[in-house]
Amino acid sequence: MNVFKFGGASVKDAEAVKNVLSILRLYQGKKLGVVISAMGKTTNAMESIVEALWNRDEEQFNTLVEERRTFHINIMNDLFKNDQDEIYQAVNTDFDELLSKFNDPVPDNYDFEYDQIVSLGEVLSTKIVTAYVQQEGVKAKWMDARKLIRTDRDYRQAELDWEKTTTNFQERFIPEFSENDVLITQGFIGHTSEGFTTTLGREGSDFSAGIIAYCCNAEDVTIWKDVPGMLNADPKWFDNTVKLDQISFKEAIELAYYGASVIHPKTIKPLQNKEIPLYVKSFIHPEEEGTVIQSSTEADHLVPSFIFKLNQILFSFTPKDFSFLVEKNLSHIFDLLSQANAKINIMQNSALDFSVLLDAEKVSIDQILALFSNDYKVKFNEGLELVTIRHYDQATIDRVTVDKEILLQQKTRETARLVVKQK
Ligand code: ASP
Repeated sequence: MNVFKFGGASVKDAEAVKNVLSILRLYQGKKLGVVISAMGKTTNAMESIVEALWNRDEEQFNTLVEERRTFHINIMNDLFKNDQDEIYQAVNTDFDELLSKFNDPVPDNYDFEYDQIVSLGEVLSTKIVTAYVQQEGVKAKWMDARKLIRTDRDYRQAELDWEKTTTNFQERFIPEFSENDVLITQGFIGHTSEGFTTTLGREGSDFSAGIIAYCCNAEDVTIWKDVPGMLNADPKWFDNTVKLDQISFKEAIELAYYGASVIHPKTIKPLQNKEIPLYVKSFIHPEEEGTVIQSSTEADHLVPSFIFKLNQILFSFTPKDFSFLVEKNLSHIFDLLSQANAKINIMQNSALDFSVLLDAEKVSIDQILALFSNDYKVKFNEGLELVTIRHYDQATIDRVTVDKEILLQQKTRETARLVVKQK
């Protein structure tokens, strides 16, 4: 069995859904477990619907629900030959049920409500795609992830129960291949032991594909994307990007850790544990090779990768009592940073001061000043960039520091990290 994952962009309209069918056809004769995300930007739209419900804004709630209904029905009108088809009834019933939620008792748990509503994006997309590929002659079946993926009750960030989930896939999913070639299920969602829907965190569908592959001992996983594979930098910030043909699981985890946003980082670990290769391929050019992520580290150093984090602030803290920075100060500093919910991107200490680099968007300067000013002299420098280069050499460093001043740098054998400012 092979696992495929199609993200929101690969099912964003009727043309895209037809393209999914043509990719499935390329793999005729294989048994495919297919994970699909919500269509286009539906998850964002569903988040706004939850917001309207929570704010008790009935007009806004109804408008947004009807907009989403129209969006899905329009796609279906281009896919189905007959609008009396059962799928219309199924989709309309889901939207009618969503609409009626406004009259339910006023919700008191935002995260719970979020999961019950936002998950509908995946439920709808998978119902539509399954009905469409069935109409086109594929032996496919819709499988409900809310009966397969078992999680705890940590709504919006649910943790997996691997044991129960594996049993579910072994007992309820794999046997369905005896009568079907393609089993289609939702990314991103799971369920608690009581049967309530949970979600695995935004962009969690990649992780779902990893879970299914792990639980079913799949041959491999392919994530179909609108890029040719994993690139060595984000084309938004970088000219002449290069595709990475092959990298190791370890390298993929490192890249994700430093902020490369190609694959949800949680996806890699289960695949690495069972040595299941992960392909990242273009859904526009499915015949092309893409990137393969697998165990061997031998090709990791061939192409340097660049990861940029913009809008950074470098803070430095100097104890006011002229003491050296010793462990006692450090633990105090970390304590204050955790009170400010700061996520540290880089840190460095000298005898007298301690510097941390933080995302400007996630931290309030006023709060940091309020927390630290009693005991420390605080300096900060805004508008900085953090550049991480994996497998760097001097030429790559020179390339990213043209017209830039380097404020701080850290190098290990494989990784250079530079905090820079435009000159
Ligand atoms: N639909 C979800 C999201 O947009 C999950 C995913 O697509 O990975 O976050």
